Amino acid sequence: MNTVVKFGGSSLASSEQFKKVGSIIRADKERKYVVPSAPGKRFDGDVKVTDMLYSCYRQAAAGKDFSSNFENIKDRYQEIIDGLDLDISLEDEFKVIEENFRNQIGEDYAASRGEYLNGILMAKYLDYEFVDAADVICFDEDGDFDAKLTDKKLSRRLSGIERAVVPGFYGSRADGTIKTFSRGGSDITGSLVAKAVHSDLYENWTDVSGFLMADPRIIKNPVPISTITYREMRELSYMGASVLHEDAVFPLRQEGIPINIKNTNRPEDQGTMIVESTCNKPKYTITGIGGVKGYVSVTIEKAMMNAEVGFGRKVLQVFEEAGLTFEHIPSGIDTFSVLVNQKEFEKKEQQIIAGLHRAVRPDLIELEPDLALIAVVGRGMKRTRGTAGRIFAALAHSHVNVKMIDQGSSELNIIIGVEKRDFEAAIKAIYSIFVLSQV
Ligand code: ASP
Repeated sequence: MNTVVKFGGSSLASSEQFKKVGSIIRADKERKYVVPSAPGKRFDGDVKVTDMLYSCYRQAAAGKDFSSNFENIKDRYQEIIDGLDLDISLEDEFKVIEENFRNQIGEDYAASRGEYLNGILMAKYLDYEFVDAADVICFDEDGDFDAKLTDKKLSRRLSGIERAVVPGFYGSRADGTIKTFSRGGSDITGSLVAKAVHSDLYENWTDVSGFLMADPRIIKNPVPISTITYREMRELSYMGASVLHEDAVFPLRQEGIPINIKNTNRPEDQGTMIVESTCNKPKYTITGIGGVKGYVSVTIEKAMMNAEVGFGRKVLQVFEEAGLTFEHIPSGIDTFSVLVNQKEFEKKEQQIIAGLHRAVRPDLIELEPDLALIAVVGRGMKRTRGTAGRIFAALAHSHVNVKMIDQGSSELNIIIGVEKRDFEAAIKAIYSIFVLSQV
């Protein structure tokens, strides 16, 4: 049995937070492999060490004096060393890093030092072995992640180690140059380690007690989600409820390893279990509600378009050529709408309208901006009758005008388009009918 535990930046932002992490790890001897992030924000308005490193390096790359910012970074680690009373000095490490900054070694290297140094401190604090991610997380010469080689190296290396700390967020190319994942990428390292050691469980510790059924900025004290499937999570994350890096899911899904999202500041909370599939029946018909604002609907009208072979392809090609992805394509007999991100669309608006005219000679093109999409997600919906009916009745009672409806063939979600100004009211109405009325 073994558990891989990943701690996010806020969980390791100070010596005080490190102590909480220490007691969490020591409370369960199965927590054998630890993946730390760099120290994050200690309070609102604070700056993450990763961001400090980026801006310090930018100064170095511009040939400016970066010593004062560099000292601030050193101070963040010294506070942790002092607060934990660790018998260690990072002076030599900082000398090397400073020299490398001066030689303008690269931004990825700079950013990765946050995790690297935190990993060294964590290993010392726990008395675990430190494994540099540069030796075991591999990228190819184009900077693309090499999953096969990583799995081979990681599993080989960790098979001989009982307890180890592997810093998150970075790895290296064959020539030794450092490469990072995208922001928040320590989640990915954690899942790669879990896959490599065939972990029974991947615990991802952060500052929230898992997924909530709705956005707490809209719904007061929403019910936490105790179990969610990978697919449901993907739907909700896409619709704004992001707790875990998207790319962290794939390696775990392949192995069927469950993820438990836990809160370092409230370790007693059960958190959210993310699983491949489960017989566990959700308490409510729906698992959660997500939503995103900022869409525009582009409706193309043309008499007899239904008889025109290739009409949809030609329309979508115009969006493709403009480099835009589409969200939904509701269609009627003589109308075809494409929902796209409004900000992206606005940059190419006239090019797209002209393109559509050329491609399909429409009778009319109508734009409807300021739309919001709401996803009602739940594995339980498939087996329940009347879910859609209840949603739309609730929306009607709240005087929300529905602009678009899309139920995916998976029957895992129902997507509703509403005007931006109705967004909050719609989410409240749906939450209330499924959760507050307890059916
Ligand atoms: N420290 C990195 C970031 O701030 C990676 C991570 O925390 O996962 O994005």
